[in-house]
Order: sequence, then C-alpha cells, then structure tokens
Amino acid sequence: IDEDGSRLEKASKPTVTQSSAGKRDVVVVIDAGHGGEDPGAIGPRGTREKDVVLKMAQTLAKLINERPGYTAKLTRTGDYYIGLRNRTLLARKYNADLFVSVHADAFRTPQPKGASVFALSQRGATSETARWLAQSENRSDLTGGVSLDGRDDMLAGVLLDLSMTASINASLGVGSSVLGKLGGVAKLHKSGVEQAAFVVLKSPDIPSILVEAGFISNPQEEKNLSTEWYRSRLASAIMKGIDEYFQKTPPPGTLLAHQKQQRQGGNAVSHYRIQRGDTLSGVARRNQTTVSELMQFNGLRDDRVMVGQTIRIPAS
Ligand SMILES: [Zn+2]
Repeated sequence: IDEDGSRLEKASKPTVTQSSAGKRDVVVVIDAGHGGEDPGAIGPRGTREKDVVLKMAQTLAKLINERPGYTAKLTRTGDYYIGLRNRTLLARKYNADLFVSVHADAFRTPQPKGASVFALSQRGATSETARWLAQSENRSDLTGGVSLDGRDDMLAGVLLDLSMTASINASLGVGSSVLGKLGGVAKLHKSGVEQAAFVVLKSPDIPSILVEAGFISNPQEEKNLSTEWYRSRLASAIMKGIDEYFQKTPPPGTLLAHQKQQRQGGNAVSHYRIQRGDTLSGVARRNQTTVSELMQFNGLRDDRVMVGQTIRIPAS
C-alpha cells in the first residue's frame, strides 16, 4: 500500500439500509486492494494480488449479505483502480459501520507466510487528525456522531482525537475477533493485530481493518489463494469474526442491537397476573416501573387492565 495524492472529494449523501424489522443493517464495506494498472504483489507462479483479493472480497460480500442484519458493499467490483482516499470516501458514502480492506502480502524471500490483520497506528492517527483539522472544508464531513463544523480549533481537535481513538479501539476489537477466527483456518503471521499508518485505515469515525490473507510470495500460500475453496474458508472466517464482534457490540439502531436488547430483556422479564382491585399504576409502583413503560412493554393502548390478565414486567 502506498500514499496516493488523490484529493479528498465530498462524498454524496450517506445511504442507510433498512432491514425488514425496520431496524437498519450493519453496513460492512469491503475493499479489494489494488486493481487496474496496479496489480499489487505477484506470486512466483504469476498469481496477481488484485485478482485473488477481488474474488475473496466478492465471496465475503456474498456471505455477509446472506446474513440477516448485515449489508455488504464493495469498493470495486471489477479490475479497475480506485485511489486510496476514494476507498475511504466510499465507506463514508455507504455509511459504513466497518471498513475491511483485503490484501495479500509479499516478501522478497519465499519463506514468510501467514495471515495478518492491521488497524491504524497511533502515528497514522495523529497525522490524519492534523490533516482533517488543516482542511476546514472537511469539517462537516464526519458522519459518526462528531461534526467539527463551527467548532473552535482546540475543541475540534479534542473531538477528533476522541473519535479517532474510539475508532482505533473498535478496529482493534473487531480485528482481534477476525484474527482469532482466521487462526482456525490459516497460519497466522503474527499472533496479535498489528498497527500501521495505511491510508485506507484513516477514517476518523469508521472502524477499519486491513486483512492480509497470506503471502502470495510463498509458493504454498500462492497456490492456496488461487483456489476458490481456500478463499471461501478465509472469507467465512472473516465473516465469523465480524459477526462475533457486532453481536457483542452492535451499533445503535441496528437489527443486531434490537435483537441483543430482546435477548437481554427476554431473560429478565417476569409475569404478573392481575388480581381483583389491581390497577396498572399500582402494579407499576410495586415493580419500580411506570405506567407508560408497562403499556409500551405490553403493547397496551391504555392503562385499563382486567382480572386474570397477565402483564409482562421488565427488569428494573
Ligand atoms: Zn496489497
């Protein structure tokens, strides 16, 4: 990966994908590295990184799209080049909850092998923060809850640092989950998530990871990466790692967040059978809740209850 000089352009309005339950999907933007005139690394048998990572990205997108509560988008769908900054802009355009860039490693000797996962380094974050602050036209661009528009420089810097730190922490979290699952199907190059100043990882408000699927310069891994079977196993492991992370920490407003809340609520619910003389306000008071909460929780249109009716009581 190298720096590119492409200008940061304004992304169009973010798109939000709604699931059937009216809760939005977790959006994962998958970026196949390189493309077009940039072949990426080339293996000893001539396998090109840009080709295997595109196929793997497509498989991963398919797996993610099949899963309820998720939508996958690809930065590129064919053999053409997209500037590195434009890849992050696409993540912003699609309102990504996670950006995953897929690559294959190379070394000048054939021995090194194994998959790796990267998150942004602190050094990369610091230089990016300075860049955002220097470009005042970008200030209204952050979508992840922080807008720097109209803030003074110091406050803008603090907010941007907070957002960047939160994004890196989330990236490390999802990265280690993905690395754990990859370890089940591939040799790992390093045991932990690595950090580097890759340009595609620099979104201040979108958790972003870069997966090196293996060393294309290693003859065995080149052979593996050329097979649909091996790429599917890797893609499936990445999907499981992503899902494990988002099941634990679903973004607010998503179907996954709703399901998690229901799971937790479901465990803590108790039931009460209305007796003669009971009122909903009395039941609410005895259970440290409110009439409106009970009405909402039970789908009641008013506060009238009947003897023998069962009321669900949420955990306080
Ligand atoms: Zn690459």
